[in-house]
Amino acid sequence: MEQSSKWPYFPVFLRLRGRRVLVVGGGEVAARKLRLLAKTDARLEVVARELNEELTQASRDGVISHVAADFDATQLDGCLLVIAATDDAALNRSVAAAADARGIAVNVVDDPLPSSFVTPSIVDRHPLLIAIATGGQAPVLGRRLREKIETMLPAAYGRLAGFMGARRARVQAALPQADRRGLWENFLDGPGAEAVLSGAEAAADAELQRLLDGDARRGEVYLVGAGPGDPDLLTFRALRLMQQCDVVLYDALLPQAILDLVRRDAERIYVGKRRARHTLAQDQINAELVRLAREGKRVLRLKGGDPFVFGRGGEEIQELAAAGIAFQVVPGITAANGCAAYAGIPLTHRDHAQACVFVTGHQRADGTLALHWDALARPGQTVVIYMGLNTLPNLCDQLITHGLPADWPAAVVEQGTSPEQRVIVSTLRDLPAAVIAADVKGPSLVIVGSVVTLREQLRWRDRV
Ligand code: SAH
Repeated sequence: MEQSSKWPYFPVFLRLRGRRVLVVGGGEVAARKLRLLAKTDARLEVVARELNEELTQASRDGVISHVAADFDATQLDGCLLVIAATDDAALNRSVAAAADARGIAVNVVDDPLPSSFVTPSIVDRHPLLIAIATGGQAPVLGRRLREKIETMLPAAYGRLAGFMGARRARVQAALPQADRRGLWENFLDGPGAEAVLSGAEAAADAELQRLLDGDARRGEVYLVGAGPGDPDLLTFRALRLMQQCDVVLYDALLPQAILDLVRRDAERIYVGKRRARHTLAQDQINAELVRLAREGKRVLRLKGGDPFVFGRGGEEIQELAAAGIAFQVVPGITAANGCAAYAGIPLTHRDHAQACVFVTGHQRADGTLALHWDALARPGQTVVIYMGLNTLPNLCDQLITHGLPADWPAAVVEQGTSPEQRVIVSTLRDLPAAVIAADVKGPSLVIVGSVVTLREQLRWRDRV
């Protein structure tokens, strides 16, 4: 079919405050439209012999006023909009004809032909509203697009729009028109907008004032947890910041598939540490973060898992805080959570473990493990050991020595959540040998506790 080159509809946003909007119909279809209309301050009237439960309640609450009668064209007088939402197609069309004759805009739900307007799919970030229409051609496509935009736009975008709206007059008074746009661009690209999105309005105001004073945009650091490996496990916020940074400092454990999601133009700096093969010492990393942010850059410090779980994220931002540099911290799914879920080993379970402890198996310079063995070697809890692969024989020995049975369940999850994930289920006595036999080399997490036995039932991913 030839597409007309003319738009079939013109997009507008109508002010409905105090205006009469008539909905004909009292069932679910009408209720769906009324839920949206109730977000405005229109006067909503519903013509229907009977109302469904939801609309009866809305009428009781004064959200709508109920006209318990058959439709009659005189009910249209003084209406701005009409929606025909009964289950009677002929009635809907006669509502449309009567409205048209009076020059009143009318929509028949799911029937574009007699409608003079259609209602779009909406992404609601009030006061920011995004309306999507496909000219009635492909509503399902419109909905798909809406879902995409929903995931791209932080929930707090409305707050950002509101923040800017409330300060427009101030900016207008302070700057000539030619400079305003640049100021807002700088605000949106810098720590100000991020501060609004994370709820720190005072910091955002301070940043706006700095820009009004003519200072250059400041840099900031995003300390972001990238999760255990599967890119699908990134948070929306992590992804958004990854896509707006100017430079990224990343660790050894991060898979390429995650790095590929970082903004293409961003400079990449590898600071990864693999045991005994330190690339940049921790204090050099800290200093580098400060230096780059001082240059006005948006610096992404991307870390595996969660930055505050054995990630030294705390140390890095202590340094930033001391240097007065803006930063935010984005949690990630830590290896324990990712490995547990993907291996089918719940970390707690009413019949097995009432507590879960995360410990590091990283040995100190003198080769010892400084752990409270008495507290760890207990039934009724799960012990998750990070960085425990190299000290595994010692770990298992100590747990047995301090009271756990030699046949106590224990597992190693290697490269958890990645396509290469391997899970080795054994006992404290046999796990070290099993790990050697399986030639486990990748990043691995040790899980000790009777929850490990649940894997037999709960495994869902690697069914080998
Ligand atoms: N901040 C990270 C942990 C960093 S310490 C987090 O929250 O997950 C590094 C250790 O984490 C590794 O030695 C290993 O024990 C564990 N680890 C990280 N990713 C892992 C993965 N995908 N599978 C198994 N263990 C992992």
